[in-house]
Amino acid sequence: MIDKYAVELAADIREGRLSAVEVTTAFLDRIAAVDGTVKAFLHVDREGALATAAEVDAARAAGEELGPLAGVPIAVKDVVVTKGLPTTAASKILEGWIPPYDATIVERLKAAKMPILGKTNLDEFAMGSSTEYSAYQQTANPWDTGRIPGGSGGGSAAAVAAKMAPLAIGTDTGGSIRQPGAVTGTFGGKPTYGSNSRYGLIAFSSSLDTPGPVSRTAVDGALLHEVISGHDPRDSTSIDAPVPPVFEAARLGARGDLSGVKLGVVKEFAEGTDAAEPGVVAAYEAGVEQLVKLGAEIIEVSCPSFTYALPTYYLIAPSEASSNLARYDGVRYGLRTGDDGERGLEEVMSLTREAGFGPEVKRRIILGTYALSAGYVDAFYGKAQKVRTLIKQDFEKAFEQVDALISPTTPFTAFKFGERTGDPYQMYLADLYTIPSNLYGGPGVSVPVGLSEGMPVGLQVMGPVMGDDITYRVAAALETTQEPLLADTAPDIHANVRFTSFSEGGK
Ligand code: GLN
Repeated sequence: MIDKYAVELAADIREGRLSAVEVTTAFLDRIAAVDGTVKAFLHVDREGALATAAEVDAARAAGEELGPLAGVPIAVKDVVVTKGLPTTAASKILEGWIPPYDATIVERLKAAKMPILGKTNLDEFAMGSSTEYSAYQQTANPWDTGRIPGGSGGGSAAAVAAKMAPLAIGTDTGGSIRQPGAVTGTFGGKPTYGSNSRYGLIAFSSSLDTPGPVSRTAVDGALLHEVISGHDPRDSTSIDAPVPPVFEAARLGARGDLSGVKLGVVKEFAEGTDAAEPGVVAAYEAGVEQLVKLGAEIIEVSCPSFTYALPTYYLIAPSEASSNLARYDGVRYGLRTGDDGERGLEEVMSLTREAGFGPEVKRRIILGTYALSAGYVDAFYGKAQKVRTLIKQDFEKAFEQVDALISPTTPFTAFKFGERTGDPYQMYLADLYTIPSNLYGGPGVSVPVGLSEGMPVGLQVMGPVMGDDITYRVAAALETTQEPLLADTAPDIHANVRFTSFSEGGK
């Protein structure tokens, strides 16, 4: 049962071949069996998940119409607030905090009657590329448990890759849905900024944060995307426009025809001094050949400002983070240290922040505070905003020529634990190819494109703002070519992703 895709599970439940309780129990049992090794979950809500599943079965028995993903269980990254369930952002500063409300996307999962299995591990406050910066535990990559599952959403990706959940929620500020997807052989989609509500997301970098789907296929991801997307008056940057038809686009792509589709490859990505490792390039190029066979036309485009994306992001994201994280002061939430009745407010605040934040979070607060400080704000933050505009213009110019851009998702496959924690720059490089889309605000998805030395590689498809549908179409088409590359190559703990065409599945 846990081998099935979300679309299959939804259809089985809707048509009475499986009960939602049976399905949810199977995933909870899988978590009990393998999460001791993978450590993807920070919190599992067995009772809550089974209660929702029982509601779905009762609704079906009463003859009620079931939604497209009713009864299909889901895991949620622990940076998204869930009423009554612990939410930590993998930080000690929020240890023990129980949110009094649900994020909008969680409300939507509940309205869709999707059982929530639990909360998944991440880098503290979603700052990182390996999930090693979690204050609680290290999550393993199900393909090789000595390696990282990517980050910051390594828990969500590992949960799906290890068949502990058919679907998961991630958040992407600079690549944290797509990069873990790439290194765990799963699908990850970052929607257009503003098309998915940030209300109830613990803020990291508010002009970049975007929640989105983690799944095993583009079709599954698209179904989830449609469940969580859409305008939310509680988020001031939410776009009030119809959700792009991503499910229809994924089903179209799954027919394996891309004729008439123009895909751009970014000249500057291939030329970069930090370019991808050879095994990644080889798998990616084989994927590009498949896209050509499917009928796509490949065109080289130039995006000169992409070269500055990494330094631009590492000024903007820490600047916004330094402001967003000011609220963790020991007064309003979670941890309070040193409050002995003698010490003053400022001292308690500083002791709390010293004890509650890990080293990467502190590094970013210091960097961001500096970049925003009087005398430096124009030279650093202001300059970064200008370069952000140039990057946006590069995308807009490229989309006059092509429908979508493609690239490897990451320059390297999953690395070993500890390999990059000593050098922040080495860690930041993991998001070299994913960051431009965040700075621009457009959608990007990562789809498996084979293996390099036994480890998964991802291909990224980037689309124009509100052009999420084209990214799903290209990804789903590529999946139809992938069966021989991934079948039976993974160890038992992994999902053994088998890509088949789902043009008739779902809804
Ligand atoms: N790895 C990037 C960072 O450390 C992106 C994180 C994210 O997308 N949340 O900031």
